[in-house]
Amino acid sequence: MKAKLEVDQEALIADFMTLVSIGSLSREEANVAAYIRGVVEELGCTVEEDDAMDEVDGTSGNLIVRVSGDDSLPIILLMAHMDTVAPGNGVTPIRHEDRITSDGKTILGADDKAGVASILHALRVLRRTKENHPPLEIVFTVCEEVGLLGAKALDRSRLNASYGFCLDSGGTLGFVVAEGPAQAKLHARVYGKAAHAGVAPEKGISAIVVAAEAIAAMPLGRVDARTTANVGKIQGGHATNIVCDFVEFFAEARSLDAERLKAQQDAMSTALQEAATKYGVRVEALWTDSYPALHLPESSFLRTMITNAMAKLDLAPIFGPTGGGSDANVVAGKGIPIANLAVGYQQIHTLEEWIALRDLTLASELVLELIREGANHHSLV
Ligand SMILES: [Zn+2]
Repeated sequence: MKAKLEVDQEALIADFMTLVSIGSLSREEANVAAYIRGVVEELGCTVEEDDAMDEVDGTSGNLIVRVSGDDSLPIILLMAHMDTVAPGNGVTPIRHEDRITSDGKTILGADDKAGVASILHALRVLRRTKENHPPLEIVFTVCEEVGLLGAKALDRSRLNASYGFCLDSGGTLGFVVAEGPAQAKLHARVYGKAAHAGVAPEKGISAIVVAAEAIAAMPLGRVDARTTANVGKIQGGHATNIVCDFVEFFAEARSLDAERLKAQQDAMSTALQEAATKYGVRVEALWTDSYPALHLPESSFLRTMITNAMAKLDLAPIFGPTGGGSDANVVAGKGIPIANLAVGYQQIHTLEEWIALRDLTLASELVLELIREGANHHSLV
């Protein structure tokens, strides 16, 4: 850690503990949004709430915070999400010697309140030092945990940023997502033919048998080093004495590689169609794109900025792959170069979730140093 911390660690920890104690399940972010709005307005920033609330059918839209700065510098986008997974209401954070946990009855919600707090406290330092820095756009999103819905609903035309940093990856501080997969989802429908299972089974065609053959023929699991696929839900049928006339199942495919994802989707659709042809039934394969891949190429100026910023904190960046998606994938897909960085939270989405006090503090110092790096980047090369 650098010799002199600039972030007020005790104030940061106190703010973090307040943030996690405000319940904010997906679609129920209104209270935490109000808290964040209060903090940034007190710091003199302007805040807009977009109309994502209607699109996600929730209680709050995304908050877009604008922080004025040196207009000769490209605008930096910072992102963190406000919602948490369940059980996330009634969180009682407990401060131990070196870390913060919940009381074991809920998640902690450091995912992603640590990201939120780290941004807020970097802003506090900038307000105190009055140093020259790039203008900032900060987006605190809703509904990240239920399919990146807030980021998807975010209107690209509201953003003027040239590049950005998302503070929403697990792992020890220093980890940076070098590549994250694109995801597509499949809703498959299989139409069989009903018949009495005891009286005239030969008159029926079982949709269950067709679906079973199709799924058994699909490449699933860890398909290759860069591609995964899973059938996660199946439903249909009526009773044991009826040959099943309809089954539907839900599946996903992910790949770090757009072409591999397409090939995987084709393989799954083909398996379904071949089973349908064999039995002479109708099937439907409805694919939807969930989010695009996230890539941080070795040549990216963002890698240089991150490496420089981390060096000031005696941190060495670890650029690695992830299997998950984040708001950063969606924003990258909207054409803004963005990196997703670890904030230090561990064992997320479990009752054992925790974050080290050191990492929480360093995350905020890192945001500060990234913004300062932005002051050295008049152009994006
Ligand atoms: Zn998260």
